[in-house]
Amino acid sequence: MRFLSGIQPSGNITLGNYLGAIKNFVALQNEEKFDDILVFIADLHAITIPQDKQELRKNIRSLAAIYLASGLDPKKCHIFIQSEVPFHTELSWILECNTYIGEVQRMTQFKDKSKKEETHGVSTGLLTYPILMASDILLYDTNLVPVGKDQKQHLELARDIAMRFNQKYGDTFVIPEPFISPKSAKIMSLTDPEKKMSKSDENPKSYISLLDDINIAKKKIKSAVTDSDTKVKYDIENKAGISNLLTIASSLSGDTIEKIEKDFENKNYQEFKEYVANLVGDLLADIQEKYNKIINSKELDEILDEGRNYATYLASKKINKIKNKVGLGRKL
Ligand code: AMP
Repeated sequence: MRFLSGIQPSGNITLGNYLGAIKNFVALQNEEKFDDILVFIADLHAITIPQDKQELRKNIRSLAAIYLASGLDPKKCHIFIQSEVPFHTELSWILECNTYIGEVQRMTQFKDKSKKEETHGVSTGLLTYPILMASDILLYDTNLVPVGKDQKQHLELARDIAMRFNQKYGDTFVIPEPFISPKSAKIMSLTDPEKKMSKSDENPKSYISLLDDINIAKKKIKSAVTDSDTKVKYDIENKAGISNLLTIASSLSGDTIEKIEKDFENKNYQEFKEYVANLVGDLLADIQEKYNKIINSKELDEILDEGRNYATYLASKKINKIKNKVGLGRKL
């Protein structure tokens, strides 16, 4: 069983990325049903919106170090940079020629993001991005792909493209299934708990970056928007801010939300926030200590080389089969 996932190196990797994605990848490494885990740095996806060249380079390496510092074990999974395996874009072109414009135009993420990008001009890449995502998945015969709500539509498109291709050219692609981790948590903005915590948010107080100064990160938790009530109680409708902090606390401590509610039954918000801030501070201290050891190491390059070589080996075999099916080039 093969599992694949990637994160875009576009800005500060947040606590949301950690609790919603990376922490689950780490847990999966030890599950027997997965005999192959591929985790990549989605740099080709990042350039669908304008990126500063130097920043992007820095963020790519930084995300690789964050994966490792968070506990991804290169003995159990392969970590690689998407653009270092050219077959992703090659397959993307072939799949683009087998996808209808209407199918990508109706993607809600395209509609949302293109509205935000109107001032820069909307790139064609923003429109075809889900086809590149389909290529990432289909290139490796991936069985399971983790999907948050925002990516569900894209995975459905990948499945549609794969099924259509299989029908037209004969059995070629494994049809990927969504993988919804029971432990995956959705983390909301600290300044507007109705919105998802996002690394692209303009207000840095709204998110915790895994590389934030620890005292600043704690302050962000302590000044998180809550409500005028005093009870530490999970109530997503009326107490979105407190509910978000409870989710963070539960994910980090391993305790259930009910237990934490009970522990803080007779305590105020300040005491509760102090507790959550310390949990976040401990996580960041642990990740940053490991991160600082790896970020400039030769070992990091060796891990990325191994990941690239392994992914290239799998992908090159697959792309040859696909090109043969379509009739491209000479018979390989
Ligand atoms: P991104 O590259 O920012 O689109 O996110 C990469 C991964 O992190 C995806 O699997 C997202 O679902 C996950 N993620 C991002 N932000 C959050 C959040 N606030 N809460 C939970 N998961 C998140």
